[in-house]
Amino acid sequence: MKRIYLDYAATTPTHPEVVKAMLPYFTEAFGNPSSIYSYGQETKGAIEEARVKVADLIGARDEDIVFTSGGTEADNFAIKGVAYANELKGNHIITSSIEHHAVLETCKFLERKGFIITYLPVDKCGSVDPDDVRKAITDKTILISVMHANNEMGTIEPTAKIGKIAKEAEIYFHTDAVQAVGHIPVDVNELGVDLLSMSAHKLYGPKGIGALYVKKGTKLTPFMHGGEQERRRRASTESVPGIVGLGKAAELAREEMSEEAERLTCLRDQLAKGLLERIDHTCLNGHPIIRLPNNVNVSIDYVEGESMVLNLDLESICASTGSACSSSSLEPSHVLLAMGLSHEQAHGSLRFTLGKWTTEEDIERVLDALPRIVAKLRAMSPLLKSNR
Ligand code: PLP
Repeated sequence: MKRIYLDYAATTPTHPEVVKAMLPYFTEAFGNPSSIYSYGQETKGAIEEARVKVADLIGARDEDIVFTSGGTEADNFAIKGVAYANELKGNHIITSSIEHHAVLETCKFLERKGFIITYLPVDKCGSVDPDDVRKAITDKTILISVMHANNEMGTIEPTAKIGKIAKEAEIYFHTDAVQAVGHIPVDVNELGVDLLSMSAHKLYGPKGIGALYVKKGTKLTPFMHGGEQERRRRASTESVPGIVGLGKAAELAREEMSEEAERLTCLRDQLAKGLLERIDHTCLNGHPIIRLPNNVNVSIDYVEGESMVLNLDLESICASTGSACSSSSLEPSHVLLAMGLSHEQAHGSLRFTLGKWTTEEDIERVLDALPRIVAKLRAMSPLLKSNR
């Protein structure tokens, strides 16, 4: 049976053209970019070419792109970097309650170091209210960090509105755009961000490489100390194949994004509509319209998300109960709870994220399999018996 992968938000396969672009940098073009002889200059050139491609994808200047080991490092770098560089100015940070753990855990770490963090609530669609951001600002606020699109239920946040508020208040604004970059148009100037995180493996690039956009003039304490790479902003010999891979992935995303987003939106809506029609007591999580083109997150009453994932796996369909980082934990999703779902509804959630190799036949297979699986699980469910 053909395996159907519907967990592109957890990670994407590396595009064959990306692999092809990376390969020479493992073998013949292996020089250290800091070396002044030609081997080094060759790889340095490849890094700078990739930097331009990444910058072009988000409307940035290439000098403002700092390569990191991924989205987690970019988030840590942005938040700790601003916190430590600006602590004489203030110790207050505003974020949201639906951020990825890379942001939330960084904020919790800073809380233990004496910083004060405001975790903003969201409405039932998972949207942050820009007015709440405005009201939360104090004279000690040094940073606002609100994600651009949520990894679990796909809601796209009012980032540009928050950017405007941050600018008026002269407060740094970071957005975790890991799930957005390469999937929807992202422009750092339109969003009004000073810092933006991205990760290659969410846009058909390799794992272990990402980037942080740092607007010129942003005061940021370096995260890694050592050599003078990345204009002294991030020490360590560059992962040249990774950077080249991210550059190629960015280039491909730029070329293919609009057509691909349109195709995925149709498949996404077909899947969501089909699930809601065929399975009773089911609701769509996240914003019904302002959401990523590839995300369908549903809560199905009287069944456990984990049981559905395992049963789908038996039919060679990969989906998830939430973000890959929290799917090994039995805690219900903090994102769904923040949106006001009950523990039972959060436990009964299922996330499908579509991508480049998703077809209409794949969607039909899910629409055939999941109603059968749910009916079987409900027949065994003590939850259902006690509620009917
Ligand atoms: N931020 C968001 C919104 C994510 O979805 C992820 C990964 O799932 C990360 C950050 C972490 O990125 P990485 O896996 O590159 O460290």
